[in-house]
Amino acid sequence: MSANVSLDVARIKSQVVTDLPRVCSDETAAIEWFEAKRWPDGCACIDCGSVDVYQMRQAKSPARQKNFRWRCRDCKYQFTVKTGTIFEDSPVKMHKWIHALWLSAAGKKGVAALELQRTIQVSYPTALFMLHRIRFCMGTEPQAMLSGVVEVDETYLGGKPRRVSRQERERLAAEGQEPPKSKRGRGTLKTPIVVAVQRDGSIKREAIANITAANLKSFLRGVVSLSAEVVTDELNVYPKATEGYAGHRTTNHASTSLRASMRTASTSTATPRSPATPCSSAA
Ligand SMILES: [Zn+2]
Repeated sequence: MSANVSLDVARIKSQVVTDLPRVCSDETAAIEWFEAKRWPDGCACIDCGSVDVYQMRQAKSPARQKNFRWRCRDCKYQFTVKTGTIFEDSPVKMHKWIHALWLSAAGKKGVAALELQRTIQVSYPTALFMLHRIRFCMGTEPQAMLSGVVEVDETYLGGKPRRVSRQERERLAAEGQEPPKSKRGRGTLKTPIVVAVQRDGSIKREAIANITAANLKSFLRGVVSLSAEVVTDELNVYPKATEGYAGHRTTNHASTSLRASMRTASTSTATPRSPATPCSSAA
């Protein structure tokens, strides 16, 4: 009996592996594949549960509507296979989502945002957003969002680059060498890490490719509740990155817990090769 079960599992696995390349390159195939996975016994209305549902068609054509909607004859509710899932309200095509899920599940360490951006051809902020949603549904993302007063700041892996003294500069010049180019703080070549600390609560941090309003916004939307008041320094990207939050305030004085978190983040073993790996811990 156990042999039969393992044979069955092997058959299902190999079917998925056969399907995936086709599904990842064609939107209609992706939608139909996901519909078959979500509703193996046939589709039922998501709102009232009726099985009297039908696929909506294009006018004067047997082809399905471009947005692949279904309609319930009983309650008239319209929905798609994305409704009520992590894909709902996302303009990203289903075949890209499935490709991203495949990449996340296939690698031992998952997939980094930069790699996802290149492979499925989406913007870096979109890749970050997709990874947050995928980790959320795979249960690898702690589900409680930071709330209340949340301080946000950025630091760099390995700490801020060392300032080169005048003596050091002269010594290097005498040897015909250039002083290190990496600047201190913002603009450095080191990997930036964003840190968000809830007052008296938890910490979330993440390595990102560079400090831009779009990247910071993607990070914040993934880990900080919109009801939060966000406190940052006066860097000009924060007003845009914190749009939609209950409040945004600037300060020149980071709290003790934020400063401690920044030190930990900059000396942690987070690898710059997988910049989207989140690390969270209780404060
Ligand atoms: Zn219905």
